[in-house]
Amino acid sequence: MRQPLIAGNWKMNGTRASAEALLSGVVAGASTISKTEIVVCPPFPFLSLGERLLSGASVKLGAQNVCTKDVGAYTGEVSAAMLAEFGCCYVICGHSERREYYGETDAIIAEKLTACASQGMIPILCVGETLQQREQGLTEDVIAGQLDGVISQIGIDAFHQAEIAYEPVWAIGTGMTATPEQAQDVHAFIRQRIAERSQTIAEKIRILYGGSMKAANARDLLSQADIDGGLIGGASLVAADFLAICQAG
Ligand code: PGA
Repeated sequence: MRQPLIAGNWKMNGTRASAEALLSGVVAGASTISKTEIVVCPPFPFLSLGERLLSGASVKLGAQNVCTKDVGAYTGEVSAAMLAEFGCCYVICGHSERREYYGETDAIIAEKLTACASQGMIPILCVGETLQQREQGLTEDVIAGQLDGVISQIGIDAFHQAEIAYEPVWAIGTGMTATPEQAQDVHAFIRQRIAERSQTIAEKIRILYGGSMKAANARDLLSQADIDGGLIGGASLVAADFLAICQAG
């Protein structure tokens, strides 16, 4: 049995005041939810606030990105050790926005997974196809390429301590959600792809769905056999909406 995992990806949103209110709201509501593991991933400047407000709570802290390097002259970057020191347990790696706007390749993303492992943090590896790729029937090829691109570099054993998020690019922030069947098909494909290398990892790894998941569609998505949770963007910015998804987990 895989415990559902719901992670909020705040992206580049919020102010100090709104972050404080959101963190407090999630902590208050999460105290009655035990079946779901809950993670929030605020922007870097709010991690210290997160560490403080989540202390003693069941909600865990995550980051949205990490540097591939350990330390040194890398202006603007944040290391895995820094994230771990501020209480991060999870790190979103290879989000499609980072692949598209910041040129992150599978090779760079693989290094980020290694950086997380060096600090005992769990990476959430994001994969997903664009609308054009889906329409051309390339979904499985794209997903397989993104998975293999990382596995070939760092090995399948790295996935003992990792989660995967399937995020169809066409569903992110668009209000267009994959149907439960469309998502389940890809999730099953991902698990199969992992199982070809390690049955043990395939059975325990959690595969989250991301892309306009909200309270209204969460239950249908989360009831699918291979959908083990969600990576929530827009709906993670309102405590009540995020908590409703956590309840559905
Ligand atoms: P969305 O974002 O829920 O706003 O579609 C999900 C994500 O990008 O992680």
